Amino acid sequence: MRLSQVVRSGPGQYICEAGALRYLPEKLAVFNRPYIITGKQSLAALRSFMPAPLDIPVLEYDGSASHEDMQRLAALAQEADVIIGVGGGRALDTAKGTAELLNVEYITIPTIMGTCSAYTPLSAVYYPNHQFKLVDYYHRSAYLVLLDLSLLLASPRNYFIGGIGDTLAKWYEAEAITRHYNSQQLSIMVRMGLSAAKETRDTLLSDTEAALAAMDAVTVTPAFQRVAEAVIAVAGMVGGCCGEYGRMAGAHAIHNAMSYLPVTHDVLHGVKVAYGILVQLVATGDAEEVAKLMPFYKSNGFPYCFRSLGITTDALLAIDRLSEFAARDDETFRLAVPGVRTQQIALAIRTVEEIANGRVDPH
Ligand SMILES: [Zn+2]
Repeated sequence: MRLSQVVRSGPGQYICEAGALRYLPEKLAVFNRPYIITGKQSLAALRSFMPAPLDIPVLEYDGSASHEDMQRLAALAQEADVIIGVGGGRALDTAKGTAELLNVEYITIPTIMGTCSAYTPLSAVYYPNHQFKLVDYYHRSAYLVLLDLSLLLASPRNYFIGGIGDTLAKWYEAEAITRHYNSQQLSIMVRMGLSAAKETRDTLLSDTEAALAAMDAVTVTPAFQRVAEAVIAVAGMVGGCCGEYGRMAGAHAIHNAMSYLPVTHDVLHGVKVAYGILVQLVATGDAEEVAKLMPFYKSNGFPYCFRSLGITTDALLAIDRLSEFAARDDETFRLAVPGVRTQQIALAIRTVEEIANGRVDPH
């Protein structure tokens, strides 16, 4: 059985608190030779929030999240009995891949809130030249996932926004995929994953504004904690329980299609995905949900039309490119809308523009 089909509901231990790094020494007591894998900025963040200095060897990853770098690090950490990954998605993905090569436990300590990499037993692997290669699934889940809310509160706001956009897509994409199945066919684990996705969506819609305000005020609040955990942990649990029913669908296909629009290259992954949710919703016949989401997008800085994505010229060309790419047989839009055609996606993009400009009432 492929590991991608196996239910992976979570790590061995999960701790989320302000100042949670203080638990790290006691959690490491069962190990003899820990190694840290991280990057420069993440190491600085770890050091400034650790209550006491750690005497643990530190290995710096090269930023690629490649098999080559994982092999290099595994050779340097041969005697390790646990790998501690500290950082964003690529650093954590590198640490997990290195632990798999060494066949040892791993601990993840996220320093940004852009992905659920801390929680999931898989890595997005790239070539050394930073082109995407594949997703690797690992035999072990994390021994411990440690979220220090004090550290995360000081992390970059824009990654948090991206993480929220990507997490919001979990419900909309999973719901679009599973509506094509009889709910009697879905296992209770898949249903639990869907419930978790719905809970995540509801939390993001009600708490994002307060969570961002907490970040601005540098104060840990319950809303901040809920949104941070939705993005880093619950999003990972959704994928782990839903398996192939919780995959990427229409929103990510629009994201992928944007690689053909150079003007959007600086827009973060999750921010592009957030726009893709709107296109997918129109294509699945749920335009009124788009109208409901618009105020949320506007007040929290998510793109809801071409202009807010930075596409200000050649809109017709952009519509062609996005819809042609997203409708391809090997793209994931068709998981949301089976057999989707280019014209349907183009029409959905135009409808999103019209809803954004108040020219169409979707009700
Ligand atoms: Zn994503």
